[in-house]
Amino acid sequence: MSGLAEKKTKEYLDKINKVNKELNIFLHINENALLEARKVDEKVARTGKKGRLYGKVIAVKSAINVLGLIANCASLVLENYVSTFDATVIKKIKEGDGVIIGMTNCDEFCAGGSGENSVFGCAVNPSCPGRIPGGSSSGSAAAVAAGLCDMALGSDTGGSIRNPSSNCGVVGVKPSYGLVSRYGLIDLSMSLDQIGPIAGNVEDAALLLDVIKGKDERDTKTFAGKEIRLENLKDKKVKIGVLKIKGVDKRIQTLIDKKVAEVVKRYKWKMEEVSIKHIDLAVQTYYPLVYVEFFSATRRFDGRRYGYKIEEKCGEEVLRRILGGSEITKAEFEGRYYNKALEVKEIIKEELEKAFEEYDCIISPVVPSLPWKVGEGDKMKPEEMYAFDALTIPANLAEICAISIPAGKVKEEKEGIPIGLQIMAGKNEESMMLSIAREIEKI
Ligand code: GLN
Repeated sequence: MSGLAEKKTKEYLDKINKVNKELNIFLHINENALLEARKVDEKVARTGKKGRLYGKVIAVKSAINVLGLIANCASLVLENYVSTFDATVIKKIKEGDGVIIGMTNCDEFCAGGSGENSVFGCAVNPSCPGRIPGGSSSGSAAAVAAGLCDMALGSDTGGSIRNPSSNCGVVGVKPSYGLVSRYGLIDLSMSLDQIGPIAGNVEDAALLLDVIKGKDERDTKTFAGKEIRLENLKDKKVKIGVLKIKGVDKRIQTLIDKKVAEVVKRYKWKMEEVSIKHIDLAVQTYYPLVYVEFFSATRRFDGRRYGYKIEEKCGEEVLRRILGGSEITKAEFEGRYYNKALEVKEIIKEELEKAFEEYDCIISPVVPSLPWKVGEGDKMKPEEMYAFDALTIPANLAEICAISIPAGKVKEEKEGIPIGLQIMAGKNEESMMLSIAREIEKI
């Protein structure tokens, strides 16, 4: 008789084998998943000890190294790159008795917000076929939404966990900067990137986060962080700041407003509209930082060490960032643009920190517009795409935590289009953020 890990892994593998051709969610399946699951079962039977992720099957974004699996970042540059080590988060998952089932589709090198920048084609949004799944962690959010795993890992530099979670109707967490080790993540922008969990509900996301978080000597920016604990907040005095920005689709804002009103009424929490003065500069601040850091990170893809020379094989968006980054860093500019962006990053960070002296959390939509129809992205200008990140980027700039939870659906398509609600909280305040999220999830 097979144990829980093997049984569940087999069920998911069968399902993936049936639907993946059509959904394009996994770029690679872990051929050893069943064997690894069996070993976990045997270990549990032998020792009588179950890790916290025992029985959980986990999908991983193709930008995170998993020993023996291909992590190609959905790019031809690294098409056949097989990881030679486990990222710290993967090590922790394995130590927690979780099983890695495969590597998921994403925007090439995590650069994008739709999923369409994958050179292997866009993953299907199972909750709203025909519309983009969002990105860049498109496959991870879609895998959870399609029921092809229990949980998934994504990475979030400017929204790449929250944005696809919103579009696919699942829960996604961007942890505070430094709470989760980035060791083994192929970086887009090392001062902003964070690995985080995607799951079907807040509790599962909290569990996975608690397992992967913590200080790691291989990532000097990490800190231990408080234990993740979900608290009952029904009778607590929670104060919500509601953030509204210009340019948000009315249907989305109405849905969020309705949800917040329900929450406040049910739990007798307080809410007030909050304004963050320079929030409208977030997108303009973020992209120069990403361009510069990405340009620098990609210098190792010179065709000698890993895969191909990046400029010769990458797609349009990746090339745009490399060329942009090389331009901004030209000696004659003396770091002017990068430094300016760093200054504004600091201002936005301070403004948000100030807001958290007053509010326990800040709620807003995750994305300002409905996910577009697959293919429409080709006709959009980069600035239009980048505008999609206006509400997610601030949390990365401020190094704080943020989550996307399903808020309902806009009745546009037959089954409606999923809309995510974002909750931001201060640095290292994951427990409170997740507790608030869980209370809202119940409504
Ligand atoms: N859409 C943003 C970008 O293209 C976010 C990407 C991310 O978080 N990895 O940079």
